[in-house]
Amino acid sequence: MNAETAVARARDIATNVIGPQAAANDREGRFSTDAVRALGESGILGLLLPAKVGGSQLGPKEFAEVTANLAEADPSVAMVFVMHVLGAGAIAAAPDGAHVRPVLEEIARGRHLSTLAFSEVGSRSHFWAPVSRAARDGAGVVISARKSWVTSAGHAQSYVVSSLSPDGVGPTESTLYLVLADAKGLSVAGAWDGMGMRANAAAPMTLDRCGVGPGMQLTRDGGGFAAMMETVLPLFNLGSAAVALGICRAVVSATTNHLKHARFEHLGASLGESLPTLRAQLATMQIETDGLAARVDDVVGHLVHPNDLTTLRVLEVKAAAGETAIEVTSLAMRTCGGAAFSKQTGIERFFRDAHAGVVMAPTADVLRELIGKALLGLPLF
Ligand SMILES: Cc1cc2nc3c(=O)[nH]c(=O)nc-3n(C[C@H](O)[C@H](O)[C@H](O)COP(=O)(O)OP(=O)(O)OC[C@H]3O[C@@H](n4cnc5c(N)ncnc54)[C@H](O)[C@@H]3O)c2cc1C
Repeated sequence: MNAETAVARARDIATNVIGPQAAANDREGRFSTDAVRALGESGILGLLLPAKVGGSQLGPKEFAEVTANLAEADPSVAMVFVMHVLGAGAIAAAPDGAHVRPVLEEIARGRHLSTLAFSEVGSRSHFWAPVSRAARDGAGVVISARKSWVTSAGHAQSYVVSSLSPDGVGPTESTLYLVLADAKGLSVAGAWDGMGMRANAAAPMTLDRCGVGPGMQLTRDGGGFAAMMETVLPLFNLGSAAVALGICRAVVSATTNHLKHARFEHLGASLGESLPTLRAQLATMQIETDGLAARVDDVVGHLVHPNDLTTLRVLEVKAAAGETAIEVTSLAMRTCGGAAFSKQTGIERFFRDAHAGVVMAPTADVLRELIGKALLGLPLF
């Protein structure tokens, strides 16, 4: 699958599968199984995987474009996709000797959804410092952990799990492991009933003496932190920003539509024709959305051709994107008035979903901390 086909397929699925179900899935808090099936059948679940395992071997540009298109229809599905791509990337980066090829081939065939299980109850949003510790068990390990939020919990076929290494000494000496959904001791530990992202099943999960064989170790002992920062974080920040961009585009479009068609009958004109304040608010939304699109393009360029500013831009893009999505959706709510508040426009779903971006780790506050430290030449962690 080439870049053009991938984006066209994502648009088609967004229009014909995801969009029509989005409002009902949000209302019911129902995971978008049909969307995942359609993404699998179209080859999009293997978008970034290497050709040698059957993937399309596309890059950050296509990842961002596909994600933004999915998010325009349903940000929950887009976030499920982002977490899957990161999980798949972590699996694909496993060192020689790991027995993960069958899983990668299943992903490329569209029959396997993965995700990340990093955040823990004990260290909250500080995902880089798990408090669980793997214990040696023969050639493998056993893990007991309380994971606080796992996108696609109970729906994924595998989970990329972080845990402190058996012999690690510091708080970041972790290792990543691949835990298959049918592993003994792995369970979903509660329901997901969020304010937004209601269709992504971001429920807590428990690992209770869950055994992981040596072939399922995804990093060397203690290599988890580097994998989180170097393999996962750049694409996660880009993916989150692309979700925010899709959200912004969706509400700019819904607001434009509303201002064109809702009318003041007594004035004989549409809202947009009648009120300059509403036109100005719509213009601000467009300016912010295009600014975010430029940031996303900039980070794509940095990931393809890294340079001295790449880390800074990667940190910035997620912080900026989360706040832009909140600002643009808030403006849409205000501009469309009671019609938005009473759910006639669909905007309030995007407004709720937009608030997830800043609290998903690394949170906007943590990113500011890291950016400030980077500018001052201080150690980041
Ligand atoms: C919809 C959704 C899906 C998710 N999916 C996943 C997933 O698939 N996998 C996964 O591992 N996790 C996932 N998470 C968890 C997420 O990444 C965060 O870990 C979680 O949202 C943090 O919430 P908390 O209440 O524990 O935050 P807390 O850590 O309690 O933070 C509270 C506040 O303190 C601020 N804060 C914390 N540390 C600092 C600091 N050092 N400097 C300044 N301010 C700070 C935060 O910004 C926040 O405002 C998901 C969360 C959500 C909402």
